[in-house]
Amino acid sequence: MTYRAPINDMLLALNHGAGLQAAVKAGHYGDFDADITAAVLEEAGKFASDVLAPLNRVGDENGIKLDNGGVTTAPGWPDAYRRWTAAGWNAVSGPEAFGGQGLPLAINAACTEIWSASNVAFGLCPLLTLSAIEALEAHGTDELKKIYLDKLISGEWPGTMQLTEPQAGSDVGALRTRAERTADGSYRISGTKIFITYGDHDMTDNIVHFVLARLPDAPPGTKGISLFLIPKFMVNPDGTLGARNDIYASGIEHKLGMHAAPTCTMTMGDKGGAVGYLIGEENRGMQCMFTMMNQARLGVGLEGVGIADRAYQQALAFAQERRQGRAVGKTGNGSDPIIVHPDVKRMLMQMRALTAAVRTICYATAVALDVSVRATDMKTRSLAAARAALLTPIAKAFSTDIGNEVTSLGVQIHGGMGFIEETGAAQHYRDARITPIYEGTNGIQSIDLVTRKLAANGGASVWTLLDELTEIVSRVEASNDPAFGTTGSKLRDAVASLDRTSRWLLERIASAPNDALAGATPYLRLFGSTLGGCMLASEALAARNLTEVAVDASRHVTLARFFAENISVQAAALERTVIDGADAVNAADAVLLA
Ligand SMILES: Cc1cc2nc3c(=O)[nH]c(=O)nc-3n(C[C@H](O)[C@H](O)[C@H](O)COP(=O)(O)OP(=O)(O)OC[C@H]3O[C@@H](n4cnc5c(N)ncnc54)[C@H](O)[C@@H]3O)c2cc1C
Repeated sequence: MTYRAPINDMLLALNHGAGLQAAVKAGHYGDFDADITAAVLEEAGKFASDVLAPLNRVGDENGIKLDNGGVTTAPGWPDAYRRWTAAGWNAVSGPEAFGGQGLPLAINAACTEIWSASNVAFGLCPLLTLSAIEALEAHGTDELKKIYLDKLISGEWPGTMQLTEPQAGSDVGALRTRAERTADGSYRISGTKIFITYGDHDMTDNIVHFVLARLPDAPPGTKGISLFLIPKFMVNPDGTLGARNDIYASGIEHKLGMHAAPTCTMTMGDKGGAVGYLIGEENRGMQCMFTMMNQARLGVGLEGVGIADRAYQQALAFAQERRQGRAVGKTGNGSDPIIVHPDVKRMLMQMRALTAAVRTICYATAVALDVSVRATDMKTRSLAAARAALLTPIAKAFSTDIGNEVTSLGVQIHGGMGFIEETGAAQHYRDARITPIYEGTNGIQSIDLVTRKLAANGGASVWTLLDELTEIVSRVEASNDPAFGTTGSKLRDAVASLDRTSRWLLERIASAPNDALAGATPYLRLFGSTLGGCMLASEALAARNLTEVAVDASRHVTLARFFAENISVQAAALERTVIDGADAVNAADAVLLA
C-alpha cells in the first residue's frame, strides 16, 4: 500500500490552524517566502512515496543484524539514506552558516510527518540528528562546530542521543557512565548505555554520539550530569577519518515494532575509554539535553501523526474495496463496501479527525518554537517560548496516544486481515507502540504539563491559550453556519472544563501533590481534546474564506463538527476523572498491594 502526503490538509493546518501565515504576516519570520512551502512539501511527498514507502515493509521483514561489532541495516537502507542526504532533506531547517537551508522548523515538522508516515523506522534516524544539531549549535565550542556541525546538518554523519542505562530510564539522574578528565582537555568515557536508537549502522562512514556521563567529583542526581560528543571514528585535522573510537554496539534488541531501526546496547571503555568532548559546561548536561529533548519530543509527536495518517489512508482504501453486508434499506443480491456501514464510517471519521487535530497541535508547537527564536522583539520571543513549552508535552503525548488509537482502529477496519501481517495494517500498529514510551514516557509528559508548564507563572500560559480558544469558539458561534451543528456549544463546554480543571490542579500542585499527579494523564487528554477541537474549528472557519487553494470548506466544517461532537465532549468526563477520581487513585494501595 502506497502513501500520498495529504498536501492540502497539511497546508491548511500549517498556515491557518497552526498560525504560520499570521506569524509570517506579523513579521516574525523575517523575509521567509511562505509561497515555497507547498513546493517543498510536494517534493518531500514525492521522495517519500517513491523511495521511503516501498522500503517500509522491507525493513520490517528484514530487520537489522549485528556482526563483529557492526550493525547492518535492511536491504536498500544505505542507498535510500544516501539519496536522502544528497537531496538535502536532512538540512531543511539547519542554519545556513553551516550548509543548511535555514527554512522554518514548521516546514521541517511537516516534512517529519511525511517521513514518519512513509517509513517511520527510517525517519527516526534524522529525527535524532536534528536534536544533536540543536544541542551542538546552542552549547558546543566553535572548534567542535567547525568539525561536526556541517556534517550533522547535511546528514553525512548522523547523531545519536544516549541517556538510558539499565538503572536509569525515566530517572536520568541515576545514570552511572563515567567521564575522566585528561591533560589535553578531552575526556575518557566508560560505561554502558542501553536502547540506543541507530547506535550503530552501515548507512554512513561516521556517527556522532551525544552521551550523558558523570565526572568523578560530580554531585549526585541530575545536577551532576555532563554531555559529551563522542565520534565513532576520530576526525583528523584535515577532516579525514582517523582511529576507531572506543564506543561499540555490543548488542541489539528484538522488538515489537520498528524492526529496521537499530536499538543498540553501547559499550564504552573496553579499550581505555572513548574519547569525548564536553558540550556546554561540566555538570550542566541536563540543560543541554533539554535543548535536544524539546525538538525530539515534537519529532516523536510527529511520528504519531505520520503513522496515524498512513493507517488512515490504508483503512480508507480497504473500506472502499472490502464488501460485506448491505447498506440499510438496500435489498437484493450482492453486498456493499463496508464504508456504507455507519459504524465503519464512525471509525474512519475518528481516525481522520484525531489525526488532523494532532497534526495541527504539532505544527503549532513548531511555529511557537520558530517564533521564539526568529521574532525581532524579545517580548514576542518569550511569549512564544512559553507557548512552545506548554504545547510540547501535549504534542508528544497526545499525538503518540492518538497514533496508537488510530493504528488500532486501522487494524479493526481490516477485520481479520488486519491481524495478518500481509496487509501492513499490523505493522503500523506495532511501530506506533514505542512512541508513547521513548523520549520521556507519556506519563512523564503529563507530569511535566501539570507541575511545570501549568504551574509556571501561576498558569499564565494556560490562561492566555484559553482566551484564544474562547475567541475561536465565539467565531464559530458568530458564523451561524448550520453545518457546524452544535460545535460552538460543545467547544465552549470543553474550554470551560479545561479552565476549571486547570484551576483545580493548580491549587493542588503544592498543597496536595498526589492529587495533581493522579490527574496528570486525564488532564493532558482533556487538554488535547479541547485544543484539538478548537484548532480544527479554526481551520474550518479559515477554509470557508479561502479562495487561493483547492480546499473544500464543507469537508473541514464536517470534520471539525465530528471532533467537537464526538471527541471534545469527553472533556466533561475527563474533568470529573481528574477532580473526583484522585481519591480512589490515592487509596489504590488497598487494592494493588492487598
Ligand atoms: C525502541 C527504543 C528506542 C529507544 N531509543 C533511545 C535512545 O535513542 N536514547 C536513549 O537514551 N534512550 C532510548 N530509549 C529508552 C527510552 O527513552 C526509555 O525506555 C524511556 O525513557 C522509559 O524508561 P524505562 O524504559 O527505564 O522505563 P521506566 O522509567 O522504568 O518506566 C516504567 C513505567 O513507570 C513510569 N514511571 C517511571 N517513573 C515515574 C515517575 N517518576 N512518575 C510516574 N511514573 C513513572 C513510566 O511512565 C512507565 O510507565 C529507547 C527505548 C526503546 C524501547
